[in-house]
Amino acid sequence: MILTDIHTHNNVTDERRIAIVNCGENSINGCKYASVGLHPWMINNYWEECMQRIATAATKEQVRAIGECGIDLVKGCADEKLQETILRLHIELSESLQKPLILHIVKGQQSIMRLRKEHSPTQPWIIHGFRGKAQQAHQYLDAGFYLSFGRLFNSKALAETPIDRLFIESDDSDVPLIYIYETIAKTIGIGIEELAEKMMLNSQHCKLLP
Ligand SMILES: [Zn+2]
Repeated sequence: MILTDIHTHNNVTDERRIAIVNCGENSINGCKYASVGLHPWMINNYWEECMQRIATAATKEQVRAIGECGIDLVKGCADEKLQETILRLHIELSESLQKPLILHIVKGQQSIMRLRKEHSPTQPWIIHGFRGKAQQAHQYLDAGFYLSFGRLFNSKALAETPIDRLFIESDDSDVPLIYIYETIAKTIGIGIEELAEKMMLNSQHCKLLP
């Protein structure tokens, strides 16, 4: 059984896990599969240079997704306008390179919904670390987003997410991935092997994995 982890900050080798490692634009060479992006917490005065490096790194084959990027109105390091400008650059990269977008959204749901309507993206948009309630999950799902769940989540929201729109991630948690899979399998009421298979299929369907 292979466990798929679509978003992690830990580049640990484990032959039972296939992971998309969120890398700095300079550190992707050490990762088998990576995502690159400018996190809203990391925005500083040099964001334009940073975005140029990200655009170059993003063309590499092992980069499977753009992000994490997004809008964080609680801990983001720039005002909302600049966060949105930077997010738009990620959206353009995602569309031009045909790679999915991994999104970090905190209190930015209205903005991301508006951006999705505006862009009608061809690429999957995945809300990572989703911890919202069922109602919010439905709003995202109805708009076409995918939801990625990790160690902490709302059980009802998880149970009501269709399995073909679901992903699993460890993010920065040091809890073993198998534990996250076990908890999620129990909550949605399927076996862990079946869950692992579905997550692999979803990742391949969205071209997160070859
Ligand atoms: Zn993360």
